[in-house]
Amino acid sequence: MSVLIFVDHHNGTFKKNAFEVITYGRQIAQKNAQEITVVVLGKLESGEIEKLGKYGAGKVKHVSDERLNTMTPKSYSKAITTIAKSCGASTIILSNNSIGKSIGPAIAVAMDASLLSGVSTTQDADAHFTKTVYSGKASVALKPMKSNLVITLNPNSIITEEIENTVSVEDVKVELSATDFDYKIVEIKAESMDHIPLPDADLVVSAGRGLKGPENWGIIEDLANAIGATTACSRPVADIGWRPHHEHVGQTGLTIKPSLYIAIGISGAIQHLAGVNQSKCIVVINKDPEAPFFKAADYGIVGDAFEIVPKLTQAVLKLKGK
Ligand SMILES: Cc1cc2nc3c(=O)[nH]c(=O)nc-3n(C[C@H](O)[C@H](O)[C@H](O)COP(=O)(O)OP(=O)(O)OC[C@H]3O[C@@H](n4cnc5c(N)ncnc54)[C@H](O)[C@@H]3O)c2cc1C
Repeated sequence: MSVLIFVDHHNGTFKKNAFEVITYGRQIAQKNAQEITVVVLGKLESGEIEKLGKYGAGKVKHVSDERLNTMTPKSYSKAITTIAKSCGASTIILSNNSIGKSIGPAIAVAMDASLLSGVSTTQDADAHFTKTVYSGKASVALKPMKSNLVITLNPNSIITEEIENTVSVEDVKVELSATDFDYKIVEIKAESMDHIPLPDADLVVSAGRGLKGPENWGIIEDLANAIGATTACSRPVADIGWRPHHEHVGQTGLTIKPSLYIAIGISGAIQHLAGVNQSKCIVVINKDPEAPFFKAADYGIVGDAFEIVPKLTQAVLKLKGK
């Protein structure tokens, strides 16, 4: 009986979600006095595996098969399941991101396990796990029916913890056939990103339909650049095509937990708040004093974004001596 943690990487480097699942897996293992094993698949940048050690990964099993550099559901679920069975894992933990969501159910079937998806807590005294529902307005307690568990952890739901630890890496081979790769990745186009990806960002400047059109996003980018923030948007803005979909936050978009979330020309509908209401400090700029977002705000500015945002940017630059 042990805990197996799968961490995915982006082009060979780990992101915050990897450190979250290891921290979480360590908490689960400690509660049940179990060992943890971490699985990584595909080619990694040098020094990356050592980073996992800081969060508690002791034993890391690395399947360096180049075909696993990109995820296909069958190959990933087979590799993880094979390793889980070989080390007698009864609990498998993944991030509830696009990879975890697509392979979690297949792994649960293969392991004859209860699937607990999108949870945000370890089990309580009654062995219940918790996940939020209805856009964060309520939470449900889940009690698994089987002794084997597959848990997908909601990104940004726990705080990562570093510890003193050393990591040992074992190269592992898994038999994979052509049929385990159900499709072939022909090309991956890297996005030009000169900022921190939204799920990892500590400072976020976000805008909505109040900006009137994509041509007006310059003032949002200027403010974001001035404070070193990542940009986000409301769903309609992404749906109309003013901004890319990876910037959309909320119930149907990304859940984020930055230190600072500046919401400009966004009404603050419940579906939007669901993705951002865990931000440490929320600043709202909206010309409508009745906008619902003000109820969730730590600081609010009532006024026209086109007047306020450039002034705010100027003030930041002046403060920085630029
Ligand atoms: C099932 C479902 C899921 C959804 N999921 C999401 C989700 O994940 N994320 C999400 O964001 N939405 C989601 N929505 C949509 C959500 O309900 C709202 O419609 C959406 O968030 C509104 O976007 P908005 O605030 O940008 O636009 P609007 O509602 O049009 O609000 C624009 C705001 O800008 C203000 N404004 C206008 N001009 C200015 C100005 N010059 N200066 C300052 N302020 C100005 C207005 O006062 C207004 O408050 C979902 C809806 C459904 C039904």
